[in-house]
Amino acid sequence: MNYNRYINKDFRKSPQPKRHPALRGLVFGIGCAVLGVVIANTTTLHDQPDIKPIISQNSAQQQKPDTTELNRLKLDLPSPRINTSIEQSESERNEYSLEREWQTLTVKPGYSLAVLFNKAKIKADQLHELMRLGQDTQCLARLHPGDEIKVDITEDGQLLALHYEINEEQYLRVIRQPEGLTATTLTHEIETRIAYASGIIDSSLFMASQEAGLSNNLTMELAAIFGWDIDFALDIRHGDQFTLIYEELFKDGEKIKDGNILAAEFINDGRSHRALRYVDPTTNRAGYYSPDGLSLRKAFLRSPVNFSRISSRFTTKRYHPLLHKFRSHKGVDYAAARGTPIKASGDGKIIFKGRKGGYGKVVIIKHGSRYSTLYAHLSNFDRKIRNGSRVRQGQVIGYVGSTGLASGPHLHYEFRVNGVHRNPLTVRFPSTKPIPERHRDNFELTTSPYLVQLNVLSRNNIALNDTN
Ligand SMILES: [Zn+2]
Repeated sequence: MNYNRYINKDFRKSPQPKRHPALRGLVFGIGCAVLGVVIANTTTLHDQPDIKPIISQNSAQQQKPDTTELNRLKLDLPSPRINTSIEQSESERNEYSLEREWQTLTVKPGYSLAVLFNKAKIKADQLHELMRLGQDTQCLARLHPGDEIKVDITEDGQLLALHYEINEEQYLRVIRQPEGLTATTLTHEIETRIAYASGIIDSSLFMASQEAGLSNNLTMELAAIFGWDIDFALDIRHGDQFTLIYEELFKDGEKIKDGNILAAEFINDGRSHRALRYVDPTTNRAGYYSPDGLSLRKAFLRSPVNFSRISSRFTTKRYHPLLHKFRSHKGVDYAAARGTPIKASGDGKIIFKGRKGGYGKVVIIKHGSRYSTLYAHLSNFDRKIRNGSRVRQGQVIGYVGSTGLASGPHLHYEFRVNGVHRNPLTVRFPSTKPIPERHRDNFELTTSPYLVQLNVLSRNNIALNDTN
């Protein structure tokens, strides 16, 4: 797969990828190769209930199926962000770890390094020598239960070497040299690889993304990116599709976690929504934008509770199950388990927190001069919120319950514009700021490679869905 190397290089470094026809061809070629791998990797999916197998005419490459991969594709690309100075320390470290007889000491509650050393029969003067090494060994003074320290010791309790993982990125290395112990803090080689995933939803986004091999975190992030335009409780349709390009972080060749979603597409009810990640060079803040540079972020979340079910919609007339008569329902009810967190749908100020008749425990937030939102039947308020305090969009304000006039645990949510009740599911929300004009070129330059890639992946995903 040596051409993948070129892809990565070109995607990251080509100064004008969008306007270069040869590159576009290359990108498409790579896309086909990528698809080839996707196909290969998804041949095991035929009996999976929630994801349709991915089949395509574009089998540019024959590759052995990897049964553990499902339709997630990993490319072993060299990271564009490898720190080469660290690569040298890698070989050094191998030298140091060669032929050592490591013993792993595990920190238990209440253990200090002294206790740990004592249990391992390491002589007390070794501890003093170690702690005299200065700044580097200070991390050993703050051990937590579960931490592991690897030591190489002689039979009479002399310390020859010590290895301690300070955090995901850094580790401490201590070696006995002829002149005594030396300590160095080193950084692991963290490599960023680009991965792709796509899926077709049969029942739920979570099921489909699980089948696609995505972590829950990544799924939540995907839902958060599109959550401004798509209500994942209400709008999901059988056959909806998603494609994403994301980072995976590797340490010493082993995956440690997912990185950022770089680009994504969600096709909901036949409508394509696209998101490109862009970091504003002046503020250094990352955001997701449509290909035309509009922020996906809206001033309000479409739904204040995650993955709940709408049990009652906005209507001017409906039958009330408890009052046994017709009355209007000027909000939306989200059925969710008691205790499910409720989020402020926009930045604002708490103007009411307390009990209010049939609403039970209720919170009202004022957003600027025109908007207000109301959250009712809460089992409890979040401890941090107070009357008059400011809240940020997405901040948890309380928990789903059934206080007041409620037949079961649910959130009753109201949205008002200039004091008038509006349907929170259909009202048009104001957008936040688009890409500033002065960053427009930079935005296109940095995101267009992913857009091209997304086009190829998505086109294939659609083709697959159609043939099934
Ligand atoms: Zn209601």
